[in-house]
Amino acid sequence: MDNVTMMQYFEWYLPENGTLWKRCSTRAESLKKAGINMVWLPPAYKGAAGSGSVGYDVYDVYDLGEFDQKGSARTKYGTKDEYLEAVRALQNQGIQVLADIVLNHRMGADGTETVMAEECLNTDRNKDIGEERQITAWTRFDFPGRAGKYSAFRWNASHFSGTDWDEGAKRKGIFRFAGKNWERKIDDENGNYDYLMGADLDTDQPEVVKETADWGKWYLDTVHMDGFRLDAVKHIGFDFYREWLKCMRAHAGRDLFAVGEYWSRDLKKLTEYLEVLEHSLSLFDVPLHFHFLEAAASNGNYDMSRLYENTLTGTDPEHAVTFVDNHDTQPGQALYSFIPAWFKPAAYALILLRAAGTPCVFYGDYYGIARDGIGAVPGLARFIKIREKYAYGKENLYFDHPSVVGFTREGDTDYPDSGIAVLLTDSTAGKKRMYMGIQHAGKHMADAAGRISGTVTVGTDGWAEFCVGDGSVSVWVFENAWKTLCIET
Ligand code: CA
Repeated sequence: MDNVTMMQYFEWYLPENGTLWKRCSTRAESLKKAGINMVWLPPAYKGAAGSGSVGYDVYDVYDLGEFDQKGSARTKYGTKDEYLEAVRALQNQGIQVLADIVLNHRMGADGTETVMAEECLNTDRNKDIGEERQITAWTRFDFPGRAGKYSAFRWNASHFSGTDWDEGAKRKGIFRFAGKNWERKIDDENGNYDYLMGADLDTDQPEVVKETADWGKWYLDTVHMDGFRLDAVKHIGFDFYREWLKCMRAHAGRDLFAVGEYWSRDLKKLTEYLEVLEHSLSLFDVPLHFHFLEAAASNGNYDMSRLYENTLTGTDPEHAVTFVDNHDTQPGQALYSFIPAWFKPAAYALILLRAAGTPCVFYGDYYGIARDGIGAVPGLARFIKIREKYAYGKENLYFDHPSVVGFTREGDTDYPDSGIAVLLTDSTAGKKRMYMGIQHAGKHMADAAGRISGTVTVGTDGWAEFCVGDGSVSVWVFENAWKTLCIET
């Protein structure tokens, strides 16, 4: 089966000119040719910030850029029709489309309500501060601009667990509504991390369970996406998405790929979540992202042999979506942890060319981030092509040295000229003998990353010695593959 390569098709600071959906349609063919066969699109519904919203400040999930709400009909990315056209254009190229699902919270309410609430300590949400009292909360969502089209459901305080603003006292705080509990099966950061922002959905409330399922079915029937990227799963009762995904798959009558964002570098939390979810989805490998960051920031003193220790890719590759950076880790964003430029090619070679994990390429790394004058990652387009055509067959790992580590893929006869050898270092140049396969004896290989000139010949025993330059990565492919890559990328 062809390797799957996902692409996150947005970064935080794209221009707010409503052109992303049109650009998806225009570029669908070239994306497919580049080797991308799965695309994660940003939240497509109206956010509180209207046409300036990246999409995570969800206001109305039924407004896909159709109704005059929050200052415009379109979203930051375009209109509903342009969105549907983009999804069709991608799917027509054989690219699967993932929709971004944000169900933890709502923002930009149409009105306030007076509710009784208990204030919690921000750093330990299990601790209440003072007495239960009356607050004025932004919890009424009537969607006057949509006027009941697609759904008559209106939200009020009974559908939420809490909020972080008392409009009456003009005061910030973590307020849990009277009669509500924070979710019990939830991340334990800050004591209980059910509450993240805005008006927090009470995902145990029967009307909320029904409404989110009804909406999901409507969304599937409207857009016909192939799967989901689930936002902020650690802030939502763990049972919720297990049931929601079952419901969506039953409704679609097919398996829908799903990847969740559980932002924690603690592998144990990720594996616990996967267990509760009965392994019905994958998770982004956040621990691996942080290992990349440590490796890049340790002046050559990171122990590269331990790169995959305590990562999802190391323990459960079937459920790992690997990534280097995303819209939250880029400069200026909440989870800023951007991988330094010198290490990025190595990180991408690792996620794209190893057999373990499903890689997700970040838009900002592929096209660059204009706002910050950051260019595209050198060699990234070529690595994606190598993944598509040549990164197949048995994998041999050589994570056996503190600096110079590598791996080979022996190739697969279904993929002509396939088979690769990858060597990288966080420190000074080095070399390593690695096994390519006796079937390749006598063949010549060249560095498609373009750092090392000359060729390496595979020995009669199937082994060869590969080299890598200071703080870099070399990606060795067979001569025919190298010639093809020189023409195509
Ligand atoms: Ca929550």
